[in-house]
Amino acid sequence: MQKGKIGVTTENLFPIIKKFLYSDHDIFLREIVSNAVDATQKLKTLASKGEYKGDVSNAKVRVSLDEKAKTITVSDNGIGMTAEEIDKYINQIAFSGANDFLDKYKDDANAIIGHFGLGFYSSFMVSEKVDVISKSYKEGAKAVKWSCDGSPEFTLEEVEKESVGTDIVMHISDDEKGFLEDSKVSEILDKYCKFLPIPVIYGKKKEWKDGKEVETEEDNQINDVAPAWTKAPVDLKEEDYKNFYHQLYPMGEEPLFHIHLNVDYPFNLTGILYFPKIKNNFEIQKNKIQLYSNQVFVTDSVEGIVPEFLTMLHGVIDSPDIPLNVSRSYLQSDSNVKKISSHINKKVADRLHDIFKENRDDFEKKWDDLKIFIEYGMLTEEKFYDRAMKFFMMKNTENKYFTWEEYEQLVKENQTDKDKNTIYLYTTNLEEQFTFVEEAKNKGYDVLILDDVLAPHLINKLEQKYSDKRFVRVDSDVVENLIKKEESSKKELSFEEKEELSPVFQAICPVDKEFNFLVDFQDLGESGAPMVITRSEFMRRMKDMSQAQGGMNMYGDLPESLNLVVNIEHPLVKKIVAAKDKRLAKQLEKFAAEITSKKAEISELEKAKEGKKEEEVPQADKEKLESLKSELAKVEEAKRSKLSDFGKKNKLAKQLVDLALLANGMLKGADLDRFVKRSVELIK
Ligand code: ADP
Repeated sequence: MQKGKIGVTTENLFPIIKKFLYSDHDIFLREIVSNAVDATQKLKTLASKGEYKGDVSNAKVRVSLDEKAKTITVSDNGIGMTAEEIDKYINQIAFSGANDFLDKYKDDANAIIGHFGLGFYSSFMVSEKVDVISKSYKEGAKAVKWSCDGSPEFTLEEVEKESVGTDIVMHISDDEKGFLEDSKVSEILDKYCKFLPIPVIYGKKKEWKDGKEVETEEDNQINDVAPAWTKAPVDLKEEDYKNFYHQLYPMGEEPLFHIHLNVDYPFNLTGILYFPKIKNNFEIQKNKIQLYSNQVFVTDSVEGIVPEFLTMLHGVIDSPDIPLNVSRSYLQSDSNVKKISSHINKKVADRLHDIFKENRDDFEKKWDDLKIFIEYGMLTEEKFYDRAMKFFMMKNTENKYFTWEEYEQLVKENQTDKDKNTIYLYTTNLEEQFTFVEEAKNKGYDVLILDDVLAPHLINKLEQKYSDKRFVRVDSDVVENLIKKEESSKKELSFEEKEELSPVFQAICPVDKEFNFLVDFQDLGESGAPMVITRSEFMRRMKDMSQAQGGMNMYGDLPESLNLVVNIEHPLVKKIVAAKDKRLAKQLEKFAAEITSKKAEISELEKAKEGKKEEEVPQADKEKLESLKSELAKVEEAKRSKLSDFGKKNKLAKQLVDLALLANGMLKGADLDRFVKRSVELIK
């Protein structure tokens, strides 16, 4: 028997393998099994070239668990190793600058293992001793057994072994005995080895018999050696793609469609990506994209490898060119990875464009489930935005879908205002904004539905790109003002008239913490609504945005400003005004006379002051002026409160405000109750 010491620096390596790599202990099995698969593939290649005469057609990798002996064994029928090869590949691990590297990556098992090709040594994360029993395929090779207990000392001896290949026997250490559970081994194999290209056998198939699970005679193969992504797209049917999806995500909901990636220049990459249904929110993505390297599972956190918005997709990416076993920050700066990322980006856009062109009906049907994904891509990836503008869809209130260009054609003529801006009217809630939508449609306008979480952001983006287009929500103004076509010849109230009417209606606006009502008077025509509540587009958007960002800025804190637009041409409003005149005319006249005389006195005194220095003005005059001003304020206040009182007592006015609130879905609870009762009373 030969004894020896493994390459010097391993003295530093073992403690690290054992102590620091705790987070990824599972991967030891992946490393050992994929080594076995590699060895088997190598022998198959040799056989196909005629350099090996034995039968390789049935080559398999077997994983077995012996709970009593506390071992996990991985056996293959691969090329095997001679004593020299063991010495070369296992004992002498060639590495330079190892200590620096180890220091840097001591918490990143993948990095260390990948960097040094330490796959085999990862077995020491869980083993107190590892035996390698191997017989090379080479003519006359003798079987050897290498044994090491985790210290740098090893033994190497000749043994008897019938078949060509390698057995790796891992004596699992006591503090890792969790790995000696059948379910644990199954779980790891399922996670990492499910699509390895050589059959991997773990135990026997089980079946249910008389209410019990019993083992059958048949080998339990845990992997599919030829998963869909490794095949040519022409060999696959729609059904195969669906089946593969369910193979990946047994609980997954049916995807919308797929993209088969197949690149061999300038890098190698295959894979199948699926578009899941994404409802109105970014749900947590349960079915993540899985990353493989030559069919070995590597990770399902693909951030940095695919563009962020594509992480919403499901499926598989397989590339031997992605430096998988390095740290994340390294990955993100890797130029290959960047190319891959932009390639996938382009592929996804192209594929969507194809589907749009080939089967627009189907595309439209799926659009609502797809739009969040596409909008997110448009907002975060400029290149995707450019491509997506060809198939990005907008839906109007008739449930018709339009591309950006089509929609522009549709509304350009009728919805361009006097300043040559095309106005895109939209609703965020068809139910709540129903009255406004109807009004707009009656005027011959088209209304879009933009109701998802990303729509406000997309609107901003589109307005930035197209400075002659503006999005205006249907309830942001009365319909006459949504698209201003020419200077209006409408009737307007004078300042005095407004001043007099304002308190009447202000008095009946609801008082609310969240809302702040401003009364405005407009001529909406006899047949227009008597009162309308609108929300300024700008204020509402600022508020929406700040809410989306957590609401901690000045717009978030401000109460929302609403306009109560009173239609001065409406007969019912005229009726209220007439009632006010009838009721208050005398008093208002008195107020007016008082106000006029006070104002006259004030302006006389102020005139007298003109051109004089402060100390030249008689004290008596100063005092007089002060008291006149405060008297004036009092009279004005008294006038306002008279008007307010009138407003408060006027059932018709209250009724009209409530109707406007009702149309906006803002009349609730006790107010709604009072409204109903008052309605009955008024009808009686
Ligand atoms: P890597 O697989 O990254 O090269 P490993 O430490 O896993 O690094 O293995 C080192 C070498 O040992 C392999 O390249 C291979 O030559 C040899 N080896 C490991 N496992 C086997 C096996 N089951 N059969 C034959 N050779 C093996």
